Amino acid sequence: MKLHEYQGKELFRRAGLPVPAGVVATSPAEVEEAARRLGRVVVKAQVHVGGRGKAGGVKVAMTPEEARQVAARILGMDIKGLTVEKVLVEPALAIATEYYAGIVNDRSSKRFVLMLSALGGIDIEEVAATQPDKIVKVAIDPAFGTPDYLLRQAVYDAGFDERYHAAILPVLKGLYGALIANDALLVEINPLVITEDGRVVVADAKVDIDDSALFRHPELAPYRDESFDNEMDRQAAEQGLTYVHLGGDVGIIGNGAGLVMQTLDVVNAHGLQPANFLDIGGGAQASQVTRALNMVLSDPNVKAVIFNIFGGITRGDEVARGMLAATEQMDIPVPVVVRLSGTQEEAGRALLAGSRFIPVANVQEAAQRVKGLTGV
Ligand code: GDP
Ligand code: MN
Repeated sequence: MKLHEYQGKELFRRAGLPVPAGVVATSPAEVEEAARRLGRVVVKAQVHVGGRGKAGGVKVAMTPEEARQVAARILGMDIKGLTVEKVLVEPALAIATEYYAGIVNDRSSKRFVLMLSALGGIDIEEVAATQPDKIVKVAIDPAFGTPDYLLRQAVYDAGFDERYHAAILPVLKGLYGALIANDALLVEINPLVITEDGRVVVADAKVDIDDSALFRHPELAPYRDESFDNEMDRQAAEQGLTYVHLGGDVGIIGNGAGLVMQTLDVVNAHGLQPANFLDIGGGAQASQVTRALNMVLSDPNVKAVIFNIFGGITRGDEVARGMLAATEQMDIPVPVVVRLSGTQEEAGRALLAGSRFIPVANVQEAAQRVKGLTGV
């Protein structure tokens, strides 16, 4: 889950990092009011993309009136396909130097990797591509964390101004602390600013939280709501289903990502448009099946549903019970075609006999039946 800059800064502030005092605003009037209190401000678009500065989404304003005008331009602006709905207003910085500091979870080395560069402010991917020797990388062993000697060597190797080493070390420790405390896959400060009066300031924040660890962080739930742009995907995640909206008119439900992918391919090859990907996972209980059907049918474009269940751990009779329970709990206005094989398939089919569900032997037949039944 990617966080907005202002959210990342909240986590960084809690970790003791020097973050400017900012205000989140959704209207030019609010921005003007904030600027009256803060003085010269920077107004920053809050969208989940980098390079906002280059796109015109980061602007300094000298007066409250100017702040209002700048906000009017940035709010509603389209940045790389995303509409700006919020801005962060902070006291503007007199920037002397911009550094880069980031920590990522590196799967290949099974370590966290601290990255530092004296070439901050610009796109770090660009630096990595054109001047890779300008990025210092240091592995952090989670058993030892960030001992001073490790960080001292890193800031020295990165060529950071020695006058600021003492102030930057605790920032890097805090950054690592924020990563660990929040189960982040990435924490990044770009730029880490040295102001003209010699202060070290966290001017930008990028944070990506490990989705698989979100259950450990109920306090991050409010951020989650905002970062999900698709309401249905969000609901599905809450119910433990893996749902991806695809926009067609044939609902697809299966157990196992591979099986669902293959079902999408076959359905597509028959000239049908899948409405979604939905994986109920292994060993699904009846209630899970009911929720899945409910989920798919809540898409008003769905004209038919294909169930493709290959029972290993998942039991055919359990799936059938879930489907039958669904008929009692909701109106099912479209044909539902079912391929059920594997563990307890006979029991499952026997349960479905005489019900509104249409049994088929395989996915090809399922696609043909859907075509015949709906004419799509
Ligand atoms: P990004 O372009 O999405 O990474 O947004 P940043 O927060 O990094 O801002 C882009 C650039 O705006 C920075 O690298 C600075 O050079 C510039 N900038 C100018 N004045 C300010 C200021 O007062 N505060 C901040 N945060 N950035 C400023
Ligand atoms: Mn930045």
